Order: sequence, then C-alpha cells, then structure tokens
Amino acid sequence: MYANWREWGRQVFKGLSFRTLSLPKGRNLLFARVKRKQIPHFVRNDNSREIRLSCAIMKITQVRLSLCCFFMLVASVAFAQNANDAKYDVVIRNARVVDGTGNPWYRADIAIQGDRIAAIGKLGNVRAAREIDATGLVVAPGFIDMLGQSETALLIDNRSISKLSQGITSEITGEGGSIAPQNALTIAAAQPSLDPYHLKIDWTTLDGYFQRLKKTGTPINIGTYVGAAQVREAVLGDVDRAPTPDELEKMKALVAEAMQQGALGVSTALIYPPGHYAKTEELIELAKVAGQYGGIYATHMRSEGRGEIAAIEETLRIGREAHVPVEIFHLKVSGKSRAGDMTQVVAMIQKARDAGQDVTADMYPYLAGATALASSLPPWMADGGLNKLLERLRDPAVRQRLKSEMSADHPEWENLYIDAGGAEGVMVASVVNPQLKQYTGKTVAQIAQLQNKDPLDALFDFVLADKGLSGALYFIASEDDLQTGLKQPWTSIGLDANEMSLDGILFEPHAHPRTFGSMPRFLGRYSRELHLVSLEQAIRKMTSMPAQREHLTGRGLLKEGFFADITIFDADNIRDQATYTDPAQLSQGVKYVLVNGQLAFENGHVTGVIAGRPLLGQRAR
Ligand SMILES: [Zn+2]
Repeated sequence: MYANWREWGRQVFKGLSFRTLSLPKGRNLLFARVKRKQIPHFVRNDNSREIRLSCAIMKITQVRLSLCCFFMLVASVAFAQNANDAKYDVVIRNARVVDGTGNPWYRADIAIQGDRIAAIGKLGNVRAAREIDATGLVVAPGFIDMLGQSETALLIDNRSISKLSQGITSEITGEGGSIAPQNALTIAAAQPSLDPYHLKIDWTTLDGYFQRLKKTGTPINIGTYVGAAQVREAVLGDVDRAPTPDELEKMKALVAEAMQQGALGVSTALIYPPGHYAKTEELIELAKVAGQYGGIYATHMRSEGRGEIAAIEETLRIGREAHVPVEIFHLKVSGKSRAGDMTQVVAMIQKARDAGQDVTADMYPYLAGATALASSLPPWMADGGLNKLLERLRDPAVRQRLKSEMSADHPEWENLYIDAGGAEGVMVASVVNPQLKQYTGKTVAQIAQLQNKDPLDALFDFVLADKGLSGALYFIASEDDLQTGLKQPWTSIGLDANEMSLDGILFEPHAHPRTFGSMPRFLGRYSRELHLVSLEQAIRKMTSMPAQREHLTGRGLLKEGFFADITIFDADNIRDQATYTDPAQLSQGVKYVLVNGQLAFENGHVTGVIAGRPLLGQRAR
C-alpha cells in the first residue's frame, strides 16, 4: 500500500502537464515540426564570400555566358574556395578551454570536422564554413545530465530547449522503470499516461526504442539503464511477491538482452512499485547480469529519510555482491530533523570508496523535492484508491487523526509535511482545477493565511478541491547538506527532470526549477559565487566524470578525435533564472551548444538541428 501510494503521487505529478495547455495539442506538435523546418542549418549562413566572388567575375568579364557555362564557373570557384579555405566545418577561436579533466584552463582554437574535434591549438588562418569567436567565453565539453528522464518526452516534443539552454548535450535516463523492455504487461501500465500525448508504445526492445527515436530524432544524445522494475513488471506484473526461480531467469534474460542492445547498467527506484517489492537478493542477481556486460548498478535508494543509512548499506551490498560499480541517484538528506546528516552519509560513501568499492552519486542543486500534494498524507489514507482518500478527508474524525499523525515523525512512512518543516515548506506547484490557479507558487502556510484556516485544514481542503491531483514542492533538504554533497569529488549533476520547451504539449508552467536551471545554478551559484569547487572541477563533475562512469567512449573531454559535444558559455554571467514560483525561465550565460559537431543552440534559441545519438554501453552488440 505504501509503495502504491508513492507511485500514485509520482504519476499524478508527472501526468499533469498536458492539462495545463492553452493550445490544442495537435497544433502545438505541428508548430514544433514547422519551427524545426523553418530554421536553416547553420552552414547555410556563411556562403556570402562565394556569392560576392561570383558577382565580381560576372562584372569584370562582362561576357554573356550561357546558363550552362555560368553554373560550371560558379561551381569551380566554389570548389576552389572550399579546397583552399574551408578546411574545417567549424572553428572556435580564442577559446578559454576548460577541457573537462579538471586541469587549469588554457587558451586555444578548436577545429571541428564532421562530428569530431579535428584540432586544438593555435590554428592561425585556417578557415571553416562556420567561425565562432569565443573571446571572453569558456569552451567546455557538453554537459552530461546524469538523470535525464527524457526517454518518452523526446518522442513527443523533442525541441529540448530546457536542456540545450543549460549546455546539456547528453543525458542518462531510465530510473527503475525504463523505456524497454516492453510487453503487454508493461504497456498496460504505461499506456494510459501516454494516451493524452497520442504516443503509442510500438516497440518491445531497446533496439526498437532507438529505432523509434531515430524517426523523430533527438537534438541531444541519450543513454539509458534497463530498469529492474521494468523487467519485474514485464515478467510478474505489479504483484508484491518474490519471483520464482524460473521468473527470475526470465528477468535476467531481459536484462541481458537490453545490455546487449546498449543499456548502460541496471537501475532501481525502490520507493515506487513494483520496484519497491524487490528484495535485495533479487537486485543482486539482476545487477550481476549488468556487470557481465560492463554495466553499473544505479539506484533511487529505498529511503532518503529516516531509513537512509540502511538504504546506503543495501546499495553498497548490491554493488559488492554483484561486483558492479554503484551510482546513487539524486543523493540527498531528506527531512528537517535530519539536517546535518549529509556528513555521515558522505563519510559512509567515502569509507566504501577508501576500502576499494567503486561508488559515486549524482545530485540536483536544489533544496526541494517534487511529488503530489496528497503524498503528504499518511499512506493508509490511500488504501482503496483516490476516491476513498477524498471520502476519508471529508470525515472530521479522520481529520483529527491526521492532524495528530502529521505532526510527528513516523518510522514506517516518510512524513513529507514534517520533513519539509510544516506548512511553510510545502508549496503548491500545479493544479488541475482552474479555480485554484491563483494558489500555484504559494506555500500551504500562505494559502492558510489567505483563507483564514488552520494550515492542515487548508491542505486537506486543497487536496479535496483539486481531487488529489495537485503537484507540490517539498523543501526537505538543508543548504549545508546540499553543499556538503555537491563538493565531494565523486558527485556529478543530474536534473531528475525531462526535456521541456516553453510552449507546446509538454510544457509545464510549474515544473521544478531544476528542469531549467540545474547546470547553470551549479556553475553560477555554487562554483563562481560560493566557491564550493573551482570552475575546472565543476566542469569535470559535469563532463568527464559522468562520461567515465558510463564508459562513454570519446565523450566528456575536449580532445582531438573526441566527439564535438561542446558548450560555450560566459563564466562570469552564467546563472539560473528559474525560481520555485516562476520556474519556466531559461538560464542565462550559455551562448552556443554543439552536439556531434552540429550547432544545436545559439544565443538563446534552439537551431532545430537534430544531431543527437543513442549512447550505447561498452559491450553492446
Ligand atoms: Zn528518484
């Protein structure tokens, strides 16, 4: 019941965006397609020299060439120009190169040919079809988002401005559930939430998904884990029991198949069903299979609250017994009463590392988490489903019981209301009932004051008025803990948010600000302003470290021969603009983003170029 409750909360929060549309869905999708086609590919902008030369030749000779001869001449001149001048596709000049290793920056030019970095150094007069003057700007490897969540979003509206505007060129996704494998059982569970977007799951394997993605294309690179919950659901459905030996073999075979097709490891999200039903031993067996293909074990642990220490112990045990590296998703210390515990959490992980265990973590640089407002209620409230919950909320006796239960910590469930420090720490992020729109961006304390009610009564009434569908932000972490985690050399950055545009079918006006601001916030607030880590170390944590963790060959560094995933930004001015009350704000400071050598983002706009690729595991066949 507990797990179902949390899953329901997650689904509510994730499923809200389509309801906030002001334009018909079809029109937005059409708009997205038209917009991409209208934007010219960048190399078409820079042929003015050839045109000028062609005109001069016409004037000097004054010969009335036949149409045929004229075209031949233009073609030969253009060829000569290309051969002599346009040696590269792109040259970035005067770059302050922060190469991703953590080494101090150095000055150089960078030349790109095709999808690769062709040369780095003082390149003098070499010419390129496109020249970018990076004077005053930092040139770094494209940022890698370690928890991207865009696998379905990319099939619906792939413009990805939320990611590109942060300098992200690659994301890793697949948290517990994953885009593959799919069968009748998994499709039955997932399809209803995709119907509003007219997206049909018409693939069964990871190969099939990548083929499907190829049709729509992606402007960013994407790699994925295979979810332990996904293979469990595919074999057992959503039941709360252990698999039989035969069923476990089937699950392992599905993990093996996904790994052969390029999955980066096996992942879990152990607070959501059906992944929550899995015991440690089952996860060790699945992780072993991932390990056979060079994959890792990545986890949203069983607890980030009062049970976190035990959850870390379980995580480390899985890594040890399956002999695989471990990645902890969105490391945090949840709960105001636990403030300061990050020191202990970090010490545990450091101790494991010192003892030879390969374990790392990713984080988003914010204090709030996001889920349904109704997830603040104790799990017994959801027994029997949402309508039962609403019915109970109308009962004054139940309200009295809730008020006493919600005012204390409980070992058996995570009390988000208390974790957030009460009504001041719970903010309504999204609503379905239009009459409640005025309250989005307000805390429960503020709403209670406006309505002249007791805070918990205001919360209960709000859940009732929106039929349990409101999304909320919970301010559950402390700034000190966040900084303690962010400055560890083994933490990277993951948004835990899917790609999004500022309009269209996927647009969510009250998404978590991490959607638009995580990377610039880490660089601006935590590196430049608070000096938590140097610029070079910050970039390392966003580039070579995640590339190394996921064995992404040829990515994560600025090196000759590496893929030209490149982010060019103003280090003095990069900053996040998204706030909790007004999150749909692009960050500032990122000037150009190249993905596989193609310019995908330029001065505040996506170019419409679709150059992203699947990122496959090291032993994919
Ligand atoms: Zn998670």
